[in-house]
Amino acid sequence: MKKAIYPGSFDPPTLGHLDIIRRAADIFDDLTVGVLDNRAKTPLFSVEERVNILKELTKDMPNVKVESFSGLLVDYAKANGYHVSVRGLRAITDFEYELQIAQTNKMLSGGELDTIFLTTDVEYSYLSSSGVKEIASFGGDISHCVPEFEIEMIYAKYGK
Ligand code: ADP
Repeated sequence: MKKAIYPGSFDPPTLGHLDIIRRAADIFDDLTVGVLDNRAKTPLFSVEERVNILKELTKDMPNVKVESFSGLLVDYAKANGYHVSVRGLRAITDFEYELQIAQTNKMLSGGELDTIFLTTDVEYSYLSSSGVKEIASFGGDISHCVPEFEIEMIYAKYGK
C-alpha cells in the first residue's frame, strides 16, 4: 500500500491544489491532505473551515482523506506512518524554497521522509492562495482560481 501526505496551508484551497490532489491520488493508494494548523499565523480560514472545504472538494475521491496537524511535519509523518510528502512546484522560485524544506525534512526524519514533487499544470501555474486573497480583498474576479462553491465564502471574509 503506497501512502503519502500532501501538506500545506491551503488558505484557501485553489484549483492548483486540487489538481495536485487529483494527480497524487492517481499515483498513491492512500493520500492524506494535511492541513497545517500554524498558530503563529492568522489565516483567512480557520483550520476547521479549511478541512471542511477540502473534504467537500475531495468527497468523490475515495482514497483521499483530509486531516489537520500542528507542529513539525516529520513528527506527524512518523506518528502516522508516512514516508512520502507530496509538494507542488509552480516555478523556479518555488524550487529553491521547496528543495530546502525537502532536505530539512529528510534530515529531521533521519532519512525516513522523502518528498515527491508534481509540477503544476500550466493552466494553474500563476495561482497562489495569497494571490487569490489579494484579488478577493479588492472584490476582483476569482472564478478562475478556486472551485465555484468557495467563491462566496472567500468574498464573505472580506465583507464583499
Ligand atoms: P505552504 O504549505 O507553503 O503554505 P500552500 O498551502 O499554498 O503552501 O501550498 C501547498 C503546496 O501546494 C506547496 O507545495 C505549493 O507549492 C503547492 N501549490 C500551491 N499552488 C499551486 C499551484 N497553483 N499549482 C501547483 N502546486 C501548487
